[in-house]
Amino acid sequence: MKADTERARSAAQAIIRDFAVKSPPVPIERIIKSKNIVLQYAPLEEELSGMAYIKDGVGIIGVNALHHPNRQRFSAAHELAHHELHAKEIRKTVHVDREFRVLLRDDVSSQGVNPLEIEANAFASELLMPRELLMTALGDGGLDLDDEAGIDALARKFRVSPAAMRYRLTNRL
Ligand SMILES: [Zn+2]
Repeated sequence: MKADTERARSAAQAIIRDFAVKSPPVPIERIIKSKNIVLQYAPLEEELSGMAYIKDGVGIIGVNALHHPNRQRFSAAHELAHHELHAKEIRKTVHVDREFRVLLRDDVSSQGVNPLEIEANAFASELLMPRELLMTALGDGGLDLDDEAGIDALARKFRVSPAAMRYRLTNRL
């Protein structure tokens, strides 16, 4: 199976349209609750980001409460992707995610090559940093990728980690 990131991004864009999100940050908790998915925060081992599963027909997302809040948002969005795109695959098992190392450019782990994870990351990236809102935030001048302070400020605005923002700006806009 090859990752279909276009489908993943389209699904995220559809949610942004449905919720008429006009400015960052994207209300990820509200979006998840509207899907009747239970969002739980729990202290997990450091390398665990989150998990997605279905219990008695109810979708559940678990997020590591010990991580930085902005990272928790990405984890929640990533797990939402599994419910939205991969319900069939997670029906029979608890899907557990370790660190999304795909976001670190120099480290390609299994997270980065598993098609489901690539799709979930593309979905989460598009959902939390929607193209339109990002273009508006960047303005006409754009942003120099060497401008660390600028990337940090943009990341704070969208409430994502600087690493996630850098990845978004570098790879897919
Ligand atoms: Zn995953």
